[in-house]
Amino acid sequence: AGMNRDARIYLAGHRGLVGGAILRRLQAEGYGNLVTRTSAELDLRDQAAVKAFFEQERPEYVFLAAAKVGGILANSTYPAQFLYDNLMIAANVIHASHKTGVRKLLNLGSSCIYPRLAPQPLREESLLTGPLEDTNRAYAVAKIAAIELCDHYRAQYGDDFISAMPTNLYGPGDNFDLQGSHVLPALMRKIVEAREANAPQVEVWGSGTPLREFLYVDDLADACLFLMQNVSESGPINVGTGKDLAIRELAELIAKEVGYTGQLAFDASKPDGTPRKLMDISHLGKLGWQAETSLQIGIQKTLDWYSSNVSPRI
Ligand code: GDP
Repeated sequence: AGMNRDARIYLAGHRGLVGGAILRRLQAEGYGNLVTRTSAELDLRDQAAVKAFFEQERPEYVFLAAAKVGGILANSTYPAQFLYDNLMIAANVIHASHKTGVRKLLNLGSSCIYPRLAPQPLREESLLTGPLEDTNRAYAVAKIAAIELCDHYRAQYGDDFISAMPTNLYGPGDNFDLQGSHVLPALMRKIVEAREANAPQVEVWGSGTPLREFLYVDDLADACLFLMQNVSESGPINVGTGKDLAIRELAELIAKEVGYTGQLAFDASKPDGTPRKLMDISHLGKLGWQAETSLQIGIQKTLDWYSSNVSPRI
């Protein structure tokens, strides 16, 4: 079932970091029959509204990139919303896709679905083998339920629904709000602002020792098209770079790119989260895909985007 240029494609979450990157990519590749809705136009938690939307629009392909997302603080402060919103979005979109005969659906999750102490790098087989990290358990449970939905709809009904699990993402369109964002955009904003203010130090949460892997969001969009066009199988499919670094090293790299020479001050009252989160990407590698943007280039591109799109408004 090849997705050709005039295929009717519903991109859920096109205003987000991931959806925005997929949208840019689909448009650049000449896919002209795209359906999008803002969350104000269509509340994906509303079952009746989602059902009516699918019956009316009849998409053939669905990218499920809509989610309630956030960094470590947002996840631990609003777990009820992270669980409810993401469960409802997944159940409604996946079920409506089944009911209206969608030819293929790509469900997007996250590396936090894996157990906190699963062997590193994280293999797809580690799913549901142990307890989750507490700071994002609610979000992870919803994302695990979404994978299970795809797999059971495949097994029971033969629906071609697949699941991609990206590692930590960053890039143009990211959330730079300091309370809600992930580490990379948060540190980028703090460091740019410290440089502007000639501040002697920048606050970095936690110990600086947790290890994280970062994927440039345009590389994820590339992987999503690759998966949509070439891969039909159950279970999570990891998408990452295969390389990680300590939060301290990340902060140093951003400071270098920003041109900030002050100190890093680690705030131990903030949580570290899971000690390490590196993806095993050998499965996707064997299927024929790999990331191409280095962290340094990705940070430069994100910094350019931030400087012209966000920082003037802050
Ligand atoms: P996680 O990957 O789910 O843990 O989520 P985050 O991207 O929010 O955090 C990753 C790591 O970066 C954690 O150890 C945080 O404590 C650390 N970190 C350091 N400074 C910041 C910051 O300013 N914002 C965020 N969100 N995390 C930070």
